[in-house]
Amino acid sequence: MPDIEKLCQNLEHRGFHAVYFSTAQEAAAHLEEALSGRTVGAGGSMTLKEMGLLERLPACCTFHSHWAGSTLEDAVGTEVYLSSVNGLAETGEIVNIDGTGNRVAAAQFGHKALYLVVGVNKIAADFEGALWRARNIAAPKNAQRLGVKTPCAAKGDRCYDCDSPQRICRALSVLWRKPTAIEYAEVVLVGEPLGY
Ligand code: SF4
Repeated sequence: MPDIEKLCQNLEHRGFHAVYFSTAQEAAAHLEEALSGRTVGAGGSMTLKEMGLLERLPACCTFHSHWAGSTLEDAVGTEVYLSSVNGLAETGEIVNIDGTGNRVAAAQFGHKALYLVVGVNKIAADFEGALWRARNIAAPKNAQRLGVKTPCAAKGDRCYDCDSPQRICRALSVLWRKPTAIEYAEVVLVGEPLGY
């Protein structure tokens, strides 16, 4: 089990407000309350899907996600951006890998507030571990979900840093600190496995 207290301290030191909930249900209720009445954009996220937020958020806020009937462009420039991450270091670095680029761009610029939801399975001891996880666990599982023709999707064991035309790993984002143009950033930690 990761040291959640230490992780929260490290995230706060880096400019991210950090909150912890032991269950996804409690975290979803917190997000519904925090995002109520606001305009929220989100990328594709198994975490948000598993939490039921793709169905719950449209009832309480103006919600745009291409996984919930909007276009990618609809989520650009919303007041709030909501996403998960592919790896989170106990030392506080936040790692995301993207193919389209919408998630990594939105988590860095273009929104006043950023909320990142992270299941306990995404936490690694340090930055190298978080990056390794993003590349060798999250990305291959996403490749399998998408059914692309890549060696990781075929074998499901690790990243092969492939040259496949359908390679899904095209951009890497590491948040070392809260980007300055984002006024408020919150990491919502959940004590259950969520997403990849
Ligand atoms: S770089 Fe290629 S092999 Fe590695 S995880 Fe991404 S799609 Fe899979």
